[in-house]
Amino acid sequence: METIRLGKTGLMVSRVGFGAIPIQRLDADDAIAVVKRCLDLGVTYLDTANAYSTSEGRMGEALAGWNGNVVISTKSQSRTPEGIEAHLAQSLEMLKVDSIDLYQFHNVSSFPDLEKVLDPNGPFPIVEKAKREGKVKHIGITSHQIDVAKEAVKTGRFETIMYPFNFIAHELGEELAALSAQHDVGFIAMKPFAGGMIGKATLAIKYLLQFPNVVPIAGVEKLHEIEEIIRIVEGPWTLTDEENAEIATIRTETGNRFCRRCDYCQPCTAGIPISNVMSFPTMVKRMPLKNVVTGWIADLMEKASECTNCGLCEERCPYQLPIREMVSENVANYRRLKKEWQDSGAA
Ligand code: SF4
Ligand code: SF4
Repeated sequence: METIRLGKTGLMVSRVGFGAIPIQRLDADDAIAVVKRCLDLGVTYLDTANAYSTSEGRMGEALAGWNGNVVISTKSQSRTPEGIEAHLAQSLEMLKVDSIDLYQFHNVSSFPDLEKVLDPNGPFPIVEKAKREGKVKHIGITSHQIDVAKEAVKTGRFETIMYPFNFIAHELGEELAALSAQHDVGFIAMKPFAGGMIGKATLAIKYLLQFPNVVPIAGVEKLHEIEEIIRIVEGPWTLTDEENAEIATIRTETGNRFCRRCDYCQPCTAGIPISNVMSFPTMVKRMPLKNVVTGWIADLMEKASECTNCGLCEERCPYQLPIREMVSENVANYRRLKKEWQDSGAA
């Protein structure tokens, strides 16, 4: 498969990568089979995270004995020196490697959060030390918030940026792709299918391949899904007039219900992290049921139920999203799933 230089890391990776969120939902054998199929098909960029429950361990199992070329990236949401040290040690153990090619600060969601990451007494020096010791080869960052992502690129401290980019939420991704190219920061595009809203892989992948410094990562859980993506990458990539028209139609039909996670709707009067609540349908598609009705996601959705319907967020949203309606739909969906889970006896 064609390769692409991942910004200033200098790493050469396959033109599309693999995102390992969905393999948490599979049983271990199926999860390992998906990762192995990716490797067999020439996918050399594999991304996981400490936060993705079984994902790192399964990737480690799949990689055991693999002696081909591969670039492994993982990430941590910890913002403390002790926390990041523990997560890094755990990742090395789970992935069964002596060194992680790309270690990322995961989901840096606000400017104070970015400050915490870069604090001289915070987690960054720990990862820099790990880099000097050879446990980490390159340092990156992931964010869903465009202004934070842009600032992270400009700091010059990160070699890669991971950000949601697809043809529905295209405006912000295109802007970031240009900025990343200017700073030679590798751009890893998460959510190429817009969290499941783009059903046609051909359109989603071909659109992103037009950007020569962007590596889309596809979160696949079935063998035929990765096989289809590889066929698309083999080309030709140019979007036909018909495909461009189809993209335009999908944008019009879904764009007014698609959250770009820009957070311009904040601050919410009830303190609800609106963009996170908007991601609930994606979480449902990609995570085990238990994970979306317990823990931090349950806390998030309980918070969402406190919406007072003040409507201020809708006045601020540049995309005129019906936020109140969408929050309320997501809360209702969460309650239904929680009941289903409780009734199943798994609680
Ligand atoms: S309508 Fe709901 S979500 Fe929007 S600002 Fe008011 S309380 Fe927050
Ligand atoms: S609801 Fe609108 S303003 Fe808020 S994050 Fe989504 S797209 Fe941005």
